[in-house]
Amino acid sequence: MYNKSIAELAKGLRSGQFSSVELTTAFLDRIKQHTALNAYITVTEDLALQAAKAADIRLTKGDAELLTGIPMAQKDIFCTEGVKTSCGSKMLDNFIAPYNATVVDKFNSAGAVMLGKLNMDEFAMGSSNETSYYGPVKNPWAINNVPGGSSGGSAAAIAARLAVCATGTDTGGSIRQPAALCGITGLKPTYGRVSRYGMIAYASSLDQGGPMTRSAEDAAIMLQTMAGFDPKDSTSVDLPIPDYSAGLNNSLEGLKIGLPKEFFGEGLNADVAATLEAAINEYLKLGAKITEISMPSLKLAIPAYYVIAPAECSANLSRFDGVRFGYRCENPVDLADLYTRSRGEGFGKEVKRRILMGTYALSAGYYDAYYIKAQKIRRLISDDFNNALAEVDVIMGPVTPSTAFGIGEKIGNPIEMYLSDIYTIAINLAGLPAMSVPAGFAKALPVGLQIIGNYFSEDKLLNIAHQYQQVTDWHTQTPKGFE
Ligand code: GLN
Repeated sequence: MYNKSIAELAKGLRSGQFSSVELTTAFLDRIKQHTALNAYITVTEDLALQAAKAADIRLTKGDAELLTGIPMAQKDIFCTEGVKTSCGSKMLDNFIAPYNATVVDKFNSAGAVMLGKLNMDEFAMGSSNETSYYGPVKNPWAINNVPGGSSGGSAAAIAARLAVCATGTDTGGSIRQPAALCGITGLKPTYGRVSRYGMIAYASSLDQGGPMTRSAEDAAIMLQTMAGFDPKDSTSVDLPIPDYSAGLNNSLEGLKIGLPKEFFGEGLNADVAATLEAAINEYLKLGAKITEISMPSLKLAIPAYYVIAPAECSANLSRFDGVRFGYRCENPVDLADLYTRSRGEGFGKEVKRRILMGTYALSAGYYDAYYIKAQKIRRLISDDFNNALAEVDVIMGPVTPSTAFGIGEKIGNPIEMYLSDIYTIAINLAGLPAMSVPAGFAKALPVGLQIIGNYFSEDKLLNIAHQYQQVTDWHTQTPKGFE
C-alpha cells in the first residue's frame, strides 16, 4: 500500500480495495513507528481521519478527483487554518494560522487528506534541515546523514513512505536538493506558476512551491492541482495550464539536451559524475542528442543569491516583532526591549545571519555596491539561460555536488553549506522550472539528475523525467527498514 502511486491508490479507493480511512490510518501508524526520522513537526491525526471520512463519502458519490482520499503532507511553511504553522522557527512555535494558503485550499478542495506538517529549515534557510527549531531530520537512506533542506521533512517523509506525496518550496534549491539527497522526484515550477499566497515568505522574488513525490507521474498529478493564477498573489501568472498527465508519454526522439561544462567541472564528486553520465546515456538510448554548452555567469550565482535572498528576507522577516503574532519575550521593559528580545530569542543563528547580511547589503552606503550589483548579475545569469535554451530544449546536470553529507558536518561552516546549492541557485535567479530525478546511487546514497527547461515548460520536464522512469527503477527503490 505504501509503495503505490497516486493513480494506483486512486484505483484501489474506487474499486473498494481499501477506504481512505483505512489508507490514512495505515499512514498515521507508520508515522508513529518512524518518529525517529523527525520528518513531521505536527501530525494532524483527527483532521486527517475527518478528511478521510469525507473523501470516502465523495468516492461513493462518484464526484471524486484523483487526489481524493490520498494521504499527503504539507511543508510547515504553508499556512493551514487552525493548525500550527511554525516555518521551523521558535518565532512561530505558537502560531495557529487563521487562514489557508491557496495551495492548501486547492488540495483540500481536491479532497486530499493532510496527515500533518513537515519539518524544514528555519524560515527555509538552510540546505540540511539542521537549522530547524525542531531539530534535524534524518535521511532514511543513512540515519546519520542529512536529508538536505530546506524541504528536508518533505523529502524524508516521501522516501520513508510516511506520506504519498508532499509539498515543498524552493528559493535556491530547497525542493530539488533534498529530493536528490533522499532519492525522490522534486519539481520547482517556473516562478509565478504556483501561488505564493499563504506560503510564508523568505525571498519573495525567488520563492516557489512545488510537488515532491516518488515519480514524475505523481508530480504531474500534484502540479495539476497546485498550478494556476491566483488573484491573491500579484506575481502569479495567468496562463493556461496544460494537462500534465496527458503529455507524459511523448517520445524523446530528437530531444536536444545541453550539458553546461561549468556543471561538470571541479567541485563535482567523481562518483556522482559517473552516475550522471550513466543517466545521460539512457537519454541517448531514448533518442536524445547531446550538445556541450557554456554558461559563463553560473559561477556568480552563489554570491549574487547570498545578497539578494538575505536582502529580501531582511524585509520579509521584519514583520516578526513580538507584537502581532508569534513569539514574545517575557516582561519587556519598553518597546525597544520588546522588539530586540523577541527577535533575539525567537530567531535562530542562521536566520539572524541572513537578516544581518541583508540589512547591510540594503543600507544606504552599500546598496549600489552589493544589491544593485547582484541584480545586474541576476540579469547576466538569465541571459545565459535564455541563450542556452534558444539552442537546446533542456539543460541537464547535477543537483548537488555530493551525496547526503553527515549531520553536523557542515553546519559550523556556512560557506561550505551554501555551496551545496551551487547547481540549483542560478535557476531560481532566472525564474526557470527544474526537476530533480532519482538517477542512481553513489556508495549506496541517492544521486539526483537535474533537468532545467524554459519558462512554463513543466509539461516537457515531466515528460522527460517520466520517460526515463519508464526505463529505470531508481525512483522505486526503498531505503532499508522502510520497505
Ligand atoms: N539553501 C538555500 C538557502 O539557504 C536555499 C533554500 C531554499 O531554497 N529555501 O537559502
